[in-house]
Amino acid sequence: MLVVRTRAELRAALASAPRPVGFVPTMGWLHAGHVSLVERARAESATVVMSIFVNPRQFGESADFARYPRSEPRDFAMAEAAGVDIMFAPGVEDVYPAGFDTVVSVGAISRPLEGAARPGHFDGVATVVALLFALVGAERAYFGLKDYQQVAVIRRMALDLALPTEVVPCPTVREPDGLAMSSRNARLSPAGRAVATVIHRALVAGVAAIEGAGQRDADAVRAAMTAVLAQEPAVAVDYVSVADALTLAELAVIHGEAVLSMAVRVDGVRLIDNELATPRP
Ligand code: AMP
Repeated sequence: MLVVRTRAELRAALASAPRPVGFVPTMGWLHAGHVSLVERARAESATVVMSIFVNPRQFGESADFARYPRSEPRDFAMAEAAGVDIMFAPGVEDVYPAGFDTVVSVGAISRPLEGAARPGHFDGVATVVALLFALVGAERAYFGLKDYQQVAVIRRMALDLALPTEVVPCPTVREPDGLAMSSRNARLSPAGRAVATVIHRALVAGVAAIEGAGQRDADAVRAAMTAVLAQEPAVAVDYVSVADALTLAELAVIHGEAVLSMAVRVDGVRLIDNELATPRP
């Protein structure tokens, strides 16, 4: 695995790289979710490029940015074992050189849910992903559906700006007890880690209400998920959502595919997860 730090080094490495190129952008502290993206990229590409960049522009709270777990030796070993050919691990000044003054802002799809809870977050995401797409010039880029709205925002951006990189959504990888893999899980205490399993149980209860019990009233599904979360007093709920899977607009009545999602805090760590549900005909 070749590690490159600057735009020039990346350009030089890509000049002789066999095509097609598959790209996996990350913020590091790799886990099995990231590895699954690399494996998909590996299967479909002659060259796999990963980036590790904790992007300050997508963090509202600077404390959250500062606390984000980082370890290059650990990440580089995992990436190499997973099959990454080129690791782009730039510094902030390599990504945003002096004078950088552009923001990519996606519209309606970026406003609810994470967009409402974290003002500016998706502007930061869209801007860095547009820039990384331009620098890497991959045929395809791989994103996890764990960050469902992020995938929707990036797909919208790629379509609207006619970016030549195809956005490939990949399934969420979970721990055996259902907790979605996340770099942030590393910041949970052992007690918090046990409590966090309630997130997926709540989502499963919501899916069961729709697909098993035939519930069409979105408020009843929100209540079913909230009731499960309430079993754990150590969970602070940020939002519980039942939204249209395409537009992310909150639903009153569930008629087509819905995305059930939530953001909660455990041990002060903000965790998000989602599941899709389709009502029975
Ligand atoms: P991050 O390093 O958290 O910015 O994530 C980098 C990429 O990995 C994003 O496309 C995420 O959606 C994806 N990802 C994170 N966690 C998971 C997971 N548990 N399963 C699948 N993909 C994931």
